[in-house]
Amino acid sequence: MPEGPEIYRAAAALDRALANKRIEVALHYPPLKRRAKRLRGTQIVRVYSRSKAMLTEFDNGDVLYSHNQLYGEWQIHGRDEPLLARQVRLIISTTSQRAVLYSATEFAWLNRDRIDSHPYIAKLGPEVLAPEVSVATVASRLSAFPRRVVADALLDQAVIAGLGNYLRADALFVAHVDPFARIGELSNNELQRLALACIQLTRRSVEQEGVVRPLREYRHAMATATRHSRAHEHSRFYVFDREGLPCWRCGAEVSRVNRGGRGVFFCARCQGVNTMIKPK
Ligand SMILES: [Zn+2]
Repeated sequence: MPEGPEIYRAAAALDRALANKRIEVALHYPPLKRRAKRLRGTQIVRVYSRSKAMLTEFDNGDVLYSHNQLYGEWQIHGRDEPLLARQVRLIISTTSQRAVLYSATEFAWLNRDRIDSHPYIAKLGPEVLAPEVSVATVASRLSAFPRRVVADALLDQAVIAGLGNYLRADALFVAHVDPFARIGELSNNELQRLALACIQLTRRSVEQEGVVRPLREYRHAMATATRHSRAHEHSRFYVFDREGLPCWRCGAEVSRVNRGGRGVFFCARCQGVNTMIKPK
């Protein structure tokens, strides 16, 4: 499932393609259709994301909220390119391109001034990608949940918004934090390091199109990797999806523990994890 950085990049691409242009909107999904009249002659002011939701704001004040869940996807096609053989929810055309939302099922029409009234948006914690969100904001937000296991809290969009599974694993690794500790057990230093890693790695992933490690290290790993289909996956992350491979830092094997249906990846040695104790 895409994480904050992927949705953020998709929103930025849509914004570049659609904002302040002459558009034509075709609503194919019945629950969306009754808005068609109101959108005639409007322009899009901006497309942006909040956590995993996409918000398309029109100049009449209407905002389309869409959440891709597992199957939804926005695609930008050339004007004459054929559409994919998938369920089309809506098409926004400019003179040169067509932005198509496929297969998503979660929509709402909101008003620009009342975005926060949407239940998904209302419950979001501070957004790691928002420019005004600082290390201190994230650290203090995390410390408001001392009883939560840190690995769980990082995925909970109500605690902080924008992280998914790969950023969780890699931020914990970079910060040298035990994923199974409770937040209240972390030292102030650990909490600060973790907050910093959450922000830095998320921004880096946006800038580097999903590469979480520094570009130089990623390129070195790719150049020296034996050629196989997973080389990119294994090179762009610190620990995520690297179960059984050597830790980039210490050489010990990266571990994986399943928790709430998702894998938690970590280096037990670097992160001081006692793998004999089952986390609760
Ligand atoms: Zn290690």
